[in-house]
Amino acid sequence: MTDEFKKSTDNLKKAVPLMMKNQVATTPANYALWYTYVDNTFPEMNQQIDDIVQQNGLCPPSTNDQLYQQFIASKAETSINDLKTNLEVLVGEISSSMTDTLTDTSLFSSLIDKSFSDLERVERDSLSLDEVMSIIRKLIADSREIRHSTTFLHNQLNTATNEITRLKNQLAEVQKDALFDSLTSLYNRRAFDRDIHALFSVEQPFSLIVADIDHFKSLNDTYGHLFGDAVIRSISKRMQNGCREGITAYRFGGEEFVLLVPQKSLRIGRQFAESLRRSIEKLSIKDRRSGQQVSNVTVSFGVAERVESDTAVSLLERADKMLYDAKKLGRNRVMPL
Ligand code: GH3
Ligand code: MG
Ligand code: MG
Repeated sequence: MTDEFKKSTDNLKKAVPLMMKNQVATTPANYALWYTYVDNTFPEMNQQIDDIVQQNGLCPPSTNDQLYQQFIASKAETSINDLKTNLEVLVGEISSSMTDTLTDTSLFSSLIDKSFSDLERVERDSLSLDEVMSIIRKLIADSREIRHSTTFLHNQLNTATNEITRLKNQLAEVQKDALFDSLTSLYNRRAFDRDIHALFSVEQPFSLIVADIDHFKSLNDTYGHLFGDAVIRSISKRMQNGCREGITAYRFGGEEFVLLVPQKSLRIGRQFAESLRRSIEKLSIKDRRSGQQVSNVTVSFGVAERVESDTAVSLLERADKMLYDAKKLGRNRVMPL
């Protein structure tokens, strides 16, 4: 086997247990990500993974997606069906060339055995020079054949690697559709459901923030739906930019958002929500049609911390109740105080 091939196999052997340990789903994109991690191709990426695993006790799905996007994927277009077929063909090709080489390898060792006994004959039976030469020629021919098939496998693997890179890019694109909100590029509700589930699967504290734009209906009524969309995008951007230390923002639907704050108490969650609230109330968004500057957009927040008996539903309900109180008390505030 070539060194490169051995390295790939070794990396994969190390990557799989790490994925299990950090509860990472065994998808092709995640394989690629964790293979890259083991390979230490991007030390900066490894550092991010290490920090997140240390904070959360696992590597949440969105983090995997985000790192994959950031470090591995680039854009391309295809359908899921195409991808699936290509991957199947690829796996088939790799496994058949592996089988060929494995057969060749055992053939090779039996050839070597035979060569050794031939060489013994040279000593024992005091063969003529011609006979010795013919044994050597045979040996060289056999080993050339073996080298041939190793080169063939190597080329196959190179082709496969390029193909995997291409598929990875396509897969990233498909995944993006499934987990990201198209208006804001924030994670969508599906990503949220998946991530909160992952957080509940470990015994770690975390808090949940729900956020809802204030009087959004009247904003839509006054400036139109397109402007409303622009407001949603601006607020999303503020949230996204505010996210630090494993905090993730999701568009829950309409003008509602949720944020997961792993490993942090209610107090920290509230402080974070408060900093977002302040940053959003400073926003000034220009309505292109009327040329008017709109600067009184505000958001209300409700925060809740996970308790032992919680389910995703009960935690969301508690945060929602806080949001409701924030609205009742006059909006543009974080509850509990
Ligand atoms: P409150 O302060 O109590 O939250 O008042 P509100 O007007 O924001 O509350 P309500 O939930 O009644 O209104 C939300 C509105 O958001 C209704 C809906 O038309 C609008 N909306 C939902 N999704 C979108 C969207 O994607 N784009 C735009 N422009 N508007 C949306
Ligand atoms: Mg609402
Ligand atoms: Mg609202």
